[in-house]
Amino acid sequence: MTLAQVLSGHEVAEAVYQELRQTLQSLPFIPSLRVIRLGEDPASVSYVRLKDKRARELGLRSQVEVYPEDFSEEALLERIAELNEDLEVDGILVQLPLPKHIRAERVLEAISPAKDVDGFHPVNVGRLWSGGEGLFPCTPLGIVRLLKHYGVELSGKEVVVLGRSNIVGKPLVGLLLREDATVTVAHSRTRNLPEVTRRADVLVVAVGRPHLVRREWVRPGAIVVDVGVNRVEGKLLGDVHPEVAEVASALTPVPGGVGPMTVAMLMANTVKAALLRRNGASR
Ligand code: NAP
Repeated sequence: MTLAQVLSGHEVAEAVYQELRQTLQSLPFIPSLRVIRLGEDPASVSYVRLKDKRARELGLRSQVEVYPEDFSEEALLERIAELNEDLEVDGILVQLPLPKHIRAERVLEAISPAKDVDGFHPVNVGRLWSGGEGLFPCTPLGIVRLLKHYGVELSGKEVVVLGRSNIVGKPLVGLLLREDATVTVAHSRTRNLPEVTRRADVLVVAVGRPHLVRREWVRPGAIVVDVGVNRVEGKLLGDVHPEVAEVASALTPVPGGVGPMTVAMLMANTVKAALLRRNGASR
């Protein structure tokens, strides 16, 4: 039995870092990233640490601001307003999820679209859908970049996106349309899910349900991207069952697939934000 080709996020992320290093060498300034974290949620602590580490390794200026769990929404908005005005800061990222008393929507809308390296501001969302230039969400950017690196042609392909979150599913649809894919979005209310997913030449799964997608859900030879990160009994499991490797032609591993790409695209967005802002092309 031949198993699916492994689409390594580590390998492609390294290619992204190589390109970014070259760009950085040619710049007369060093782009800077500011990450804000509230509270001590263990997953957030480790994600923020990783982002900061990668940014520093790449040679960006990176600083993390940590505030207590009970930091007020007003104080957070004030801090964001200061960072928006700070000419030394190119990218601002507020780590999600935020404590319950803070309205994430208000916070994300407070970040200047020009510094919104997570790509969640409504202005950037609009630019993604209208075909304009902007900062777009890192995970979907990483997925498209990964597929392109491995020579997956998206134009005209049937792509099924399972999951419709604002962070992964929806923005990915926007990016795939830009690549001329034929896109179907499925979610928890979709009927006959396996029938829908079996249509896919490329299946992207972002549901947060460990091993939901079984081999019968996948058309033989399809390319499968597993976005899921589920902690189960101390292990990291994807949304795609390992048996899918027996029918798919290519599959991203968990961990080591989409995760490293997300971080790499955050670095790419920080450099892009710095360039757009200095060229006066973004507001
Ligand atoms: P989310 O906001 O919880 O959205 C999950 C989506 O999946 C929703 O659209 C939901 O449908 C759908 N869904 C849930 N259960 C389903 C089921 N049984 N059948 C069909 N659809 C179902 O999650 P998210 O933020 O997009 O994240 C998804 C997964 O990706 C998580 O495991 C997360 O940890 C991971 N993730 C990984 C990265 C990375 O860099 N590797 C980045 C972001 C997220 P409804 O809309 O109908 O509720």
